[in-house]
Amino acid sequence: MENYKPTIGLEIHAELKTKTKMFCSCPNNPFNILPNTNVCPICLAHPGTLPTINEEAVKKVIMVGMALGGKISEITKFDRKNYFYPDLPKGYQISQYDKPLVVGGILNNIKIRRIHLEEDTGTLIHDDKSNESLVDFNRAGVPLMELVTEPDIRSAEEAKKFCEDLQLILRYLDVSEADMEKGEMRLEANVSINMGTKVEIKNINSFKSLYSAINYEIERQIYCLKKGEKIIQETRGWDDVLEKTFSQRSKEESHDYRYFPEPDLPQFETSFFDLEYIKNSLPELPQQKLERFDREYNLSNKQAEVLIKNKLIADFFEEAISELKLYIKDNQNKIDKNPINLVYNYLTSDLMGMLNEVKKDFVKSENDLILAGKIKAANFAKLIDLILEEKIGSRQAKDILKIMFETGNDPKEIMKQEGLETISDDNVLEEIIKIVFLENQEAINDYKKGKESVLQYLVGKTMAKLKGRGNPSLILQKIKDMI
Ligand code: ADP
Ligand code: ZN
Ligand code: MG
Repeated sequence: MENYKPTIGLEIHAELKTKTKMFCSCPNNPFNILPNTNVCPICLAHPGTLPTINEEAVKKVIMVGMALGGKISEITKFDRKNYFYPDLPKGYQISQYDKPLVVGGILNNIKIRRIHLEEDTGTLIHDDKSNESLVDFNRAGVPLMELVTEPDIRSAEEAKKFCEDLQLILRYLDVSEADMEKGEMRLEANVSINMGTKVEIKNINSFKSLYSAINYEIERQIYCLKKGEKIIQETRGWDDVLEKTFSQRSKEESHDYRYFPEPDLPQFETSFFDLEYIKNSLPELPQQKLERFDREYNLSNKQAEVLIKNKLIADFFEEAISELKLYIKDNQNKIDKNPINLVYNYLTSDLMGMLNEVKKDFVKSENDLILAGKIKAANFAKLIDLILEEKIGSRQAKDILKIMFETGNDPKEIMKQEGLETISDDNVLEEIIKIVFLENQEAINDYKKGKESVLQYLVGKTMAKLKGRGNPSLILQKIKDMI
């Protein structure tokens, strides 16, 4: 492999979350149920119509540029990219050619070349019944940002990580849902060996496909080169089923698009915005949150990563911790039980497990509360406190959590209603232990001969009689005293 160093550059598109389309006032809602309803003469390119620039979209790309350390161009302009395809009503796409909105930037040590703004195309749907292609223009004209990296990427892993981290940043900035399955984020990879002739790969539908497609293409090119063949500059498609790339067409050059300045739009001066203000009001970004979680909660890097992968989960976690702090105050006994880890574990295994089972995510309710099923962070914290107080054991906690998930009720109420509270009453425990002793004379004899493990056995028998609701440390203590 020494002499065959892969070089990879990415082109990433993301649909921006705005109220309206890029150059008209149609709603930006490409998933409208009825096709061709979010359309108007402007996005359908009727003669005599004029586009106007969507400020919200420009602002969102500026935010992305700032988050990635790029330079916001003082003057930016739009250009026409001409080509013919049935999903393109105008016969050209308004894009940006030589004066992109953002120049430069960096993520994971990979340099970003530019980020520009353009408009999305419509969608083609094949109708099997009539064997016709149908076109829906609801998406035509939706604001789309395109980010282009330098060919700085060395492996499929690096490429995948770059895309995942970018997706998270777009979500934290709330500029795009960036859902790959919905086509809100789309990836193209350029691959060459030793910066030689590059091949562009399209039809990449997931991060996993990106990873497989790049690795396949690296191997294919090395194989060709070893045989002494030349790499052909072309666009190849990724076939998810065959796990292969296949030749689609020879690559077009930019002059094929006959780019020229959009005559219907003026140049845009970004000083129109208060750039300083935008910069100062950027939200906390994933990397910053990761470092803060490491510091504040003393979590391992890996644990912190699980939480920050989804901003709602990270927020839910923090809300639960801050509620829990009220219950803990200076109670050393509770602090010793490592409440943060307890929250982390119940959150990432039990709560996320329950959500997975019903294929749901954390959501934000209308009154801005984050919910897991019907559970809000405050009640989740209450449940953790019941465990810290030894009012319930882990078995009961899991039962209560299930009920909370369905009903959203208060864990303390559920504990009382379902009779799940731990039994710590001396008289009750002693009565039960007496019965267990009577029923297990032989075990007691073994213990007296020195068999220590009998103690745990007797705890188990007592617990069983209490249907798992006894306080285990108290039971052990009493058995030792009474035996
Ligand atoms: P083109 O003009 O063919 O579109 P660009 O120079 O605009 O090529 O680059 C498009 C993408 O291809 C960028 O992401 C860039 O990093 C990447 N790229 C350029 N040259 C190479 C190369 N030799 N190997 C891999 N990727 C490359
Ligand atoms: Zn329109
Ligand atoms: Mg290009």
